[in-house]
Amino acid sequence: MTDERRAELAAALAELQERIAAACAAAGRRPDEVRLLPITKTFPATDVALLAELGMTEFGENRDQEARAKSEELRGLVQGPPPRLHMIGNVQRNKARSVLRWASVVQTVDSPRLADALAKAVAAARDAGERDGPLEVLLQASIDGDPARGGSPLPELADLADRVARSEQLSLRGVMTVAPRDWEPARAFAALAETAGKLLLDHPNAVEISAGMSQDLEAAIAHGSTLVRVGTSLLGGRRLASL
Ligand SMILES: *Cc1c(COP(=O)(O)O)cnc(C)c1O
Repeated sequence: MTDERRAELAAALAELQERIAAACAAAGRRPDEVRLLPITKTFPATDVALLAELGMTEFGENRDQEARAKSEELRGLVQGPPPRLHMIGNVQRNKARSVLRWASVVQTVDSPRLADALAKAVAAARDAGERDGPLEVLLQASIDGDPARGGSPLPELADLADRVARSEQLSLRGVMTVAPRDWEPARAFAALAETAGKLLLDHPNAVEISAGMSQDLEAAIAHGSTLVRVGTSLLGGRRLASL
């Protein structure tokens, strides 16, 4: 069973890496400019461990409870340094402290209130001796400004970036987005790239552009993505459509 799954994941990973390399070549970018972030939500810790054996070091998860349990399980499954987990789902402010226990990066900071809640939780964790440094964060951008699906409207991102940058508890690393469903992906990622370029002028460390998923990673890579978040094309279909 494990051997079968390992072979399946190895084949899917090789195919995906070729796809990413081809997209980089088409965009005139070097393949090492784009990292792959496997999105392992709904899949078991054993899949994460197999991907770690295949060389993956960072993974994305979208639910606090699930990710926290998985990260604990991973301690017994993965040799060497523990994988870095990225929170790519909506963070409830009252869960900030819990998310810190497993997430190395929070990609979904989309409001001053959430930034403040995370900063406060980091300060408390540092006071308690549970962590050393600040938390790496990406700002989640809403390209179409529809608040229903998370993300900060583009015109508000500059203020949010300044607020995060002022916090000693948070380290601003870049931006993240999910292309709106009814938009052409290239148009959405071009808008993100423009915003990211402006932010970079004031925040030279905010270099990460987390954009592109199974369906649209080519368009994202063409528009400057540095981190593609891929679930389905690597791990297979998820049972629950909403996840
Ligand atoms: C689930 C998810 C992904 C991965 O989507 P796939 O289509 O399965 O590749 C990427 N980003 C976010 C924010 C997600 O929730």
